[in-house]
Amino acid sequence: MARKRPSPPSEECHVNLIPLGTVDSLAVSIVAANLQTVLGLNADALPPVGNPDFAFLPLRNQYSASKIIKMIESMNGTAKFKIGIVQCDICTPILKFVFGESQLGGQAAVISLHRLWHGDPSRTYLRAAKIGVHEAVHLLGIGHCRAPDCLMDGSLSTEKLDAIPLRFCRACQYEVSRRLKHAFGGEET
Ligand SMILES: [Zn+2]
Ligand SMILES: [Zn+2]
Repeated sequence: MARKRPSPPSEECHVNLIPLGTVDSLAVSIVAANLQTVLGLNADALPPVGNPDFAFLPLRNQYSASKIIKMIESMNGTAKFKIGIVQCDICTPILKFVFGESQLGGQAAVISLHRLWHGDPSRTYLRAAKIGVHEAVHLLGIGHCRAPDCLMDGSLSTEKLDAIPLRFCRACQYEVSRRLKHAFGGEET
């Protein structure tokens, strides 16, 4: 009987977390811990790089998520996936703001803590964990989901973000497991 390996080998680093500018280090650690517990991915935080001034959009007084992602993609990482973390407000041409943005099925993503702060720090960090895991799943090539109570809901408000759980619906969980195995090996059954 073939043996199943539930998560990828533990030695390998799967995700580089890259702080751009000054970023709350506890938030970085908590995102890393949740990538491990929810997805079984080992995440290392790289030393912070400079502020993403290159992505500033003066007319919007925000930062371009796609420019930050391009920069992160160009960085030499040690892992298959690279996720930038910023404290500035990020946006896309069509959305007033985003909590995070990913290359669907690609290598690079960015998450922003800017709109996640709450008087209760545990809520702030739970929000950051949800966004980090959500964007990592986009890197696996999985899009948004309409099932109730699924982390892959395309939340655009903190109220919605607080309401969804840090887990997936059955269909997304199946797809996440399958694609993790495909992306990182694991033994075939
Ligand atoms: Zn999304
Ligand atoms: Zn789902």
